[in-house]
Amino acid sequence: MINVEAIPILQDNYVWAVHNGRSAILVDPGQAGPILAWLKDRGMIAQAILVTHHHNDHVGGIAELLAHYAIPVYGPARGVAKTIPARDGKTLSFAGIDMIFDVFETPGHTLDHVCYVGRDEHGGPAHLFCGDTLFSVGSGRLFEGTPAQMYASLTRLAELPGDTQVCCAHEYTLDNIAFALEAEPDNADLQARHAQALALRKRGEATLPVSMAVERGTNPFLRCDLPGLVEAASQHFKTALKPGTETFAAIRTWKDET
Ligand code: ZN
Ligand code: FE
Repeated sequence: MINVEAIPILQDNYVWAVHNGRSAILVDPGQAGPILAWLKDRGMIAQAILVTHHHNDHVGGIAELLAHYAIPVYGPARGVAKTIPARDGKTLSFAGIDMIFDVFETPGHTLDHVCYVGRDEHGGPAHLFCGDTLFSVGSGRLFEGTPAQMYASLTRLAELPGDTQVCCAHEYTLDNIAFALEAEPDNADLQARHAQALALRKRGEATLPVSMAVERGTNPFLRCDLPGLVEAASQHFKTALKPGTETFAAIRTWKDET
């Protein structure tokens, strides 16, 4: 049995905990206090830490967690001392945790950003831990990479099976939907996701995880090959854009302006 739960920290971050009821793998622990409390409440211990990138809201809690638990930390080299490098093609597994993690290098938000695809050993849907690369109905900002790099990273993630559960590091869904509706006002799947996300947030619940199939139907950054979005971005910038990277770059700039 494997469980995946979101622990809210800071303003709008989620730390994802993959656990078996006794011990937990923690993804992007940006703050220690809420995680230590969460573990204590459930009588669990931390078993390992996975990091997607070095920004403080993803690594800020690691030093304090390591003071409580002598556990390994996997991730890019930057940000945390003694990190075990997580490189593309590498597979991570942990005793008693029935999930195998495949490492995907996904440059864009940072140049050394990685994602983890957790495969359920019992055949359930995979879980994608995508840090600040893919958000529900959005994408991470390009702090270090080029639009071409980020678009390639997102396209690779979008090719995962439709039932993949997307576990993003921030609760940005409603803000992202507000922008996406500007670009695709007539997208019925997007309107449905909007209604669902509003209801979840009203109840104080996370809008995540979300399936990759829903993301492919609603996320403008995964839909840059479709005529509707190419047209919308071309009209916004009053220039004829090509599908793919060019449209992605335009939509990213458009969103950054709003
Ligand atoms: Zn970040
Ligand atoms: Fe972040």
